[in-house]
Amino acid sequence: MIKQKGNIMDLEADVTYNGLCCYCGTCGAFCKEYITYENEIPVTKKKCYEIYGACYDFCPRTSFAPFVVERAVFGATRTDNLLGYYKGDILTARATDEVIRGKAQDGGVVSALLVSLLEQGEIDAAVVSKTSETWEPEPFVATKKEDVLAAAGSKYTQCPSVLGVGDAFEQGYKRVALVGLPCHIQGMRKVQLSTGFDVGADRVKILIGLFCTETFDMHMLRKKLEELGTRIEEVEKFNIKKGSFFVYTKGGKEIKTPIRKMRDCAREACNYCYDFAAEFADVSVGSIGSELGWSTVITRSEAGAEIVKKAEKEGVIEAKKLTEEQLKELKSLASFKKRENLKNIYDKTEPIRILNMQVEPEMLVGFLDDE
Ligand SMILES: Cc1cc2nc3c(=O)[nH]c(=O)nc-3n(C[C@H](O)[C@H](O)[C@H](O)COP(=O)(O)OP(=O)(O)OC[C@H]3O[C@@H](n4cnc5c(N)ncnc54)[C@H](O)[C@@H]3O)c2cc1C
Repeated sequence: MIKQKGNIMDLEADVTYNGLCCYCGTCGAFCKEYITYENEIPVTKKKCYEIYGACYDFCPRTSFAPFVVERAVFGATRTDNLLGYYKGDILTARATDEVIRGKAQDGGVVSALLVSLLEQGEIDAAVVSKTSETWEPEPFVATKKEDVLAAAGSKYTQCPSVLGVGDAFEQGYKRVALVGLPCHIQGMRKVQLSTGFDVGADRVKILIGLFCTETFDMHMLRKKLEELGTRIEEVEKFNIKKGSFFVYTKGGKEIKTPIRKMRDCAREACNYCYDFAAEFADVSVGSIGSELGWSTVITRSEAGAEIVKKAEKEGVIEAKKLTEEQLKELKSLASFKKRENLKNIYDKTEPIRILNMQVEPEMLVGFLDDE
C-alpha cells in the first residue's frame, strides 16, 4: 500500500469537510485519545502533532488502491468488474436455525456464520452493529449467540463499526470478526495492510461485508418517516426490496415507498462510493438476487470460502447456486451504483475546490464582482 502523507488537519480538509467522510470509525478506532465523533463526523479531542497520522493513513477516503488490496488479500485481481474478485459459485443461502432466521434481516447467513464461528472457538468476538429505540446504531462486541441475535437485522443509518474493533482489542480479544458495509471493510483492509502503523490488526481474522447502495442520514430519515406518517421510535424493521423501501411499525403497519423517493435521505459521502458488493471482504452477503428470506452470498478469500463451505457441510446454512436470472439482478444493481457514483466521483474531482465549495474556474470571477 502506498504510504500516506497527512495528519488530522489534512484529514479534516481532504475528507471530513469535503463531503467524503463515511463515518466508518476507522480514523478514531485506534486513536481514541485524540479523535472522537460528533454529529457523525470525527472531531479532534486532543491536539495531535503527528505529521503522518494513522487517521489519515487508515481512512478509506484519503486513497484506496483496489488492485493492490486485491493482490494482497486474495492473491489475484478481479475477474468481475461489477462484483470484484470471488471464488466459486455465487450462492443463495439461509440459516437452518429458525430462531436466527426470525431475528435476521434476510436469510440470517451473517448471524448464523458468526454464531457458529463463536461456538466453535474460531473467533472470540464479533463486531456487529446494535441499535436502540431511536435506530442510532453503535458498534457492539458480541461474544455469544444472544449478543449476535440482539444485533441482527439491517440498520440503514451509518454505524462507526470499525470503532468496535478498537473496543474488542482493548477488551483483549485476539480472534475478531467484523461485519461491515463496503466502507468499513475498505477501512479495515487499509489498517491491516498499512506499512506505516501497526495496531495488531492481524487479530482481525474475518471480514463479513454487506452489500450496500447507500446509508441514510439520520436527520433526513426522521423527517421522511414523519412525511410517511410514522416516527422512528415506532419502527420495528426496515427493508429494501425490489425497488421499494418498507417500514414495519411496532403497531403492525406496513409502509411502502419507492426507493427513488428516499434518495434525498442518502448521506452525501455515499454518492462517492463505487463498491456495492463489499468487494474486499472475505465473504459478502446481501439480499438482491435471492428470494424473500434468503441471502445472496459471495465468497472471496480462502478463509471466506472455507467458512461458508464448512457451515454448509455442518448444516448451519443451506445453500444453492444463484440462477443466471438472479445473478443478472445482482449485477444490475451493482452496475447501477457504479455508474451513478463514478459520475459523481468524476464530477467532484474536476472542479477547483475552495473551502469546500466546488467552483468552476470561469465562475471565480463571480466571487470578486461587487455588482
Ligand atoms: C445500510 C445497508 C444497506 C444495504 N443495502 C443493500 C442493498 O442495496 N442491496 C442488498 O442486496 N443488500 C443490502 N444490504 C444488506 C442486507 O440488508 C442484509 O444485511 C444482508 O442481506 C444480510 O442479511 P442476513 O439476514 O444474513 O443478516 P443478519 O443475520 O440480520 O445480520 C446482519 C448483520 O449486519 C450488521 N449490521 C446491520 N446494520 C449495519 C450497519 N449499518 N453497519 C454495519 N453493520 C450492520 C448487524 O449487526 C448484523 O450482524 C444493506 C445493509 C445495510 C446495513
